Amino acid sequence: MPDATPEHTLLTPGPTPIHPRAMQALTRPMLGHMDPEVFALNREIQADLRVMYGTEESTFTALLAGTGSLGMEASFANLVEAGDEVLVCANGSFGRRMAEMAARYGARVRLVTAPLGEAINPDAVAAHLDGVRMVAVVHGETSTGVLNPVPEIARLVRQSGALLTVDAVTTAGMEPFHMAEWGVDFAYTGAQKCLSAPPGLAPVAISERAFARFAARRAPTPLWYCDFEGLRDYWEDHSYHHTVPVNLHYALHAALRAALDEGLENRQRRVQEVGAAIQTALAPLGFTSYVRRPEDRLPTVLALRLPEGFDDAGVRTALRERHISVTGGLGPTAGLIWRLGLMGETARPAPYLTLMHALEDILGERGLAGRFQDALAPVPA
Ligand SMILES: *Cc1c(COP(=O)(O)O)cnc(C)c1O
Repeated sequence: MPDATPEHTLLTPGPTPIHPRAMQALTRPMLGHMDPEVFALNREIQADLRVMYGTEESTFTALLAGTGSLGMEASFANLVEAGDEVLVCANGSFGRRMAEMAARYGARVRLVTAPLGEAINPDAVAAHLDGVRMVAVVHGETSTGVLNPVPEIARLVRQSGALLTVDAVTTAGMEPFHMAEWGVDFAYTGAQKCLSAPPGLAPVAISERAFARFAARRAPTPLWYCDFEGLRDYWEDHSYHHTVPVNLHYALHAALRAALDEGLENRQRRVQEVGAAIQTALAPLGFTSYVRRPEDRLPTVLALRLPEGFDDAGVRTALRERHISVTGGLGPTAGLIWRLGLMGETARPAPYLTLMHALEDILGERGLAGRFQDALAPVPA
C-alpha cells in the first residue's frame, strides 16, 4: 500500500466525498453513548432531520446504525406482518430490493413495474390498491436515474388508508421532499449519499400512523435491533438499547448542519446547474439522456446513454488510473449508460471539471472543459 492515498475524484452515485465539516467532526474525542452531551447532539440531529424531510414538529426522527439498506429493512420489519398485502413499486434494482425484503417479512407482495428508464405510473398503483396495507416506492431509482412521482402516488395511498414507505436515499437533502404535505409514513436515507457524511447511518422519519400500526402488531418485530419501541427508548427516553456509533453521529450532525446552512433550495439549484453543464459539455460527443421523459429524470443521478461505439470499460479504466471513479450501468444497462452522481459534495463544478480535462486527454477531444465552464451559471459577485 502506498503511504499516501492520492486525491481521488469520486463521481459515483454514492458514496460521496465526506464534507470537510463532517471530516473534522470525526476527530472529536469519543464520548459515551449515554453522555448528556451526546443526547443534546442527538436532539439537534432529530430537529434538523425534521427540516430535511419536511415533517411535522411531532414526527419521530432518528439514526439507525447501519447503511441505507437498514433504513429500508426497518420499514418492512416493523410495519409488515405475515400475510399482509404490500404493494411495491419496482422499476429498478432498489425497488426490487424492497420487494425482496417485504417478502422475507412475510408480505404477500404485489409488484407494480415500469419499463427500464421509465417512472412508475400512478394509475397502475391506483389499480392495485384494494386490500393493501402498505405501499413502498423508491423516490429516485439510482440504478436507472429515474424519479418516481411520489406526490401523486402518496395522494392515492392516503385515500386508500394504506401506509406509505418512501426510499429518499437520492432525494432528501438535495431534492424537494415534503413528508407531511405528501403524507409519507416512513422515509429513510443513507448518510453517504446526499448528506456527504461517512457511511454507516440511516436517518429515518416515522409518522404517528406508522407507530400506531406498529403498536397493533400481533407479535414483536423479528428485527430486535431496529424495533421502533427500542429506538424511542434511546432517542426519547434516553435509556440504553444498543451502543450508537457516537463518532458517526458527530460527523452526520456536522454534515446535516452544513446542508441546512447552505439551504435546501440552494442545493437543488446546485444539482441543476452542474447537471446541465455536464450535459452541455458531453452532448457534442453523442451522450444523450437515458431517461426519455424530462419529468422522469432524477437530477441527482444523471443517467447518460453512451455514444455509439464508445469504449465504456476502456475509458472508465483510464479514468480510474487517473484516480477518477465513474459508474456505468447495472445489468441490462451495463455498457449502455453512465450514471454520474450529483449528490452532496459530488454536485460541485470542481470534480466534474477534473473529469472533463481527463476525458479531453483520454479521448483526444478538445473543448470539453471549456464548454463545461461556459455552461455553468456565472457566480454572482
Ligand atoms: C444506495 C441506495 C440504497 C442502499 O443504501 P446502502 O447504503 O448501500 O445500504 C437504497 N436505495 C437507494 C435508492 C440507493 O441509492
